[in-house]
Amino acid sequence: MSDKKFKVDQQRRNLVKGLAAATVASSVMPGSLFAAGRGPTAVVIGAGIAGLSAAWDLRNAGFQVSIFEKEKFTGGRMVESQMGPLFGATHAEGVLNASKDMFALAAELGIENQVRGEAYDQVWNPDDGLGLDTGHGLYDPGGMSNFNIENALKIPGLSPETINALPRLQADMDEINAAVDPCLLETGTAYDNESVGDYYERVLGKTAGKEIIKYKIDTSCAGWGWDPYTTSKIALLSWLASKEQFVYPHGGIGALTRKLDSVLPVQNNTTVRYVTPPDANGRHTVHYLNANLERRSVTPDVVVCAVEGKYLDLMVQGLTPKQEALAKNCFFTKQPVVYWILDEKSAPTEFASGAYISGHPDPIKAKTYHWLAMQGHPELNQPPYVRYSLSRRHTPEWQNSDMAIEDFCWPMIKHLYPQLERAHVVDIVDHTSDSLIHIPVGYVNQMAEVLREQRKGRKGLYLAGEYVAGAHTGAACASGRSVAKVIKGHWI
Ligand SMILES: Cc1cc2nc3c(=O)[nH]c(=O)nc-3n(C[C@H](O)[C@H](O)[C@H](O)COP(=O)(O)OP(=O)(O)OC[C@H]3O[C@@H](n4cnc5c(N)ncnc54)[C@H](O)[C@@H]3O)c2cc1C
Repeated sequence: MSDKKFKVDQQRRNLVKGLAAATVASSVMPGSLFAAGRGPTAVVIGAGIAGLSAAWDLRNAGFQVSIFEKEKFTGGRMVESQMGPLFGATHAEGVLNASKDMFALAAELGIENQVRGEAYDQVWNPDDGLGLDTGHGLYDPGGMSNFNIENALKIPGLSPETINALPRLQADMDEINAAVDPCLLETGTAYDNESVGDYYERVLGKTAGKEIIKYKIDTSCAGWGWDPYTTSKIALLSWLASKEQFVYPHGGIGALTRKLDSVLPVQNNTTVRYVTPPDANGRHTVHYLNANLERRSVTPDVVVCAVEGKYLDLMVQGLTPKQEALAKNCFFTKQPVVYWILDEKSAPTEFASGAYISGHPDPIKAKTYHWLAMQGHPELNQPPYVRYSLSRRHTPEWQNSDMAIEDFCWPMIKHLYPQLERAHVVDIVDHTSDSLIHIPVGYVNQMAEVLREQRKGRKGLYLAGEYVAGAHTGAACASGRSVAKVIKGHWI
């Protein structure tokens, strides 16, 4: 679905929900929403990691906080949940080890050991048959999130030109590592001047640049559906240069959001319809549907809007021109993934998997980002399954095909894993998600301008979340914590 169509559908859904509301809208006195207290009142919209982190810090600073969340669950895109018969991480799976603010928050909550975890690159270990396949052999891409030149030099199939050129990257990586915080991309505005594709071609030369994009960068970008030739170089290089890995938290990706949910006043099933422009006192009114689908409104001292960036201009009336410009540039990518759930008798006898570069000589492998066959865990009530992820470059082919994703992907998975038979499939889970922000060239500067404006003086509305920090959980958390600091400075 195109972004515009998505927005129209969302507006329509909100309208239908609004019409369905049985009672006439009524105002709620702030006191009835907030626990007793004397501090300023704050409504946080969105109980993802950004909203929860902001709410935690605001409450600790003496604010009376209430969090509105449209879903029945808390955590946004940082959760485990049920997908048909499977239970697991539906969006984020790992956290970047550079997520200082997140680990500090976890320590405050006494669960740091659950949020820390094992390195992501174990998944790609070629010794376990899990390397990336270039068509010339398997290799370890060195994790998705860092770029180690020594490791890159071992990629099978690299031309001598690329091998000679690769060490030229080191100086820039060291500079970016020293200057830019991958959790607060506003620190990287000076590097938001070209795409990651153009950067590699400029520094390495056209041939070597294209080759390194194909063999290393596109595989990272594919995971997020980003096109290297439109993505701002700093969005990717801030991670690649950081020498930090993604880690799988010991307690699962939802450990932190579950804990925050247990200690914060989250109002689930509460959908914000719109937020008005500031009144004469600088306060914004939040119009929402409560869990009984009744229309309500509340006018707190402070509103923190921590929803997905794609909803910002639909939800908030009277955005400043800078916020409006940022919202218009907020695009979300699509990640098509299909699970074929198998009957127990047809469980794969052993784990099998493959991941390929987009230039792989086998045309089906070239279309594949990653696939795997899992035996299942009956003791955990997890059935066996085969999973297939389409590569970024081929997603438009599916979108233009008018085919269901499982039908589109079936010939590919049959080619890669011929043992799979339709007769063994008992269920299909379409896990195509369209909710990761894309950071094009220029976006980081827009984000920084919005944040500069936000810091200037006391306001009734503040923005937080992935879309003003960087496309990962550590950035969303840092954004929530830093907006809370700004609000404290303005209000306390
Ligand atoms: C497929 C996928 C894989 C990812 N993998 C990783 C990974 O491995 N590691 C990593 O660090 N990051 C990963 N990410 C990114 C990460 O999940 C996000 O950057 C992060 O979770 C965003 O947090 P947030 O709080 O900004 O937004 P969200 O978590 O999206 O929170 C926004 C909240 O606002 C709520 N909301 C929206 N509209 C309304 C409304 N009208 N009223 C009330 N509430 C509303 C939403 O329901 C949601 O709970 C991945 C993302 C995707 C999509």
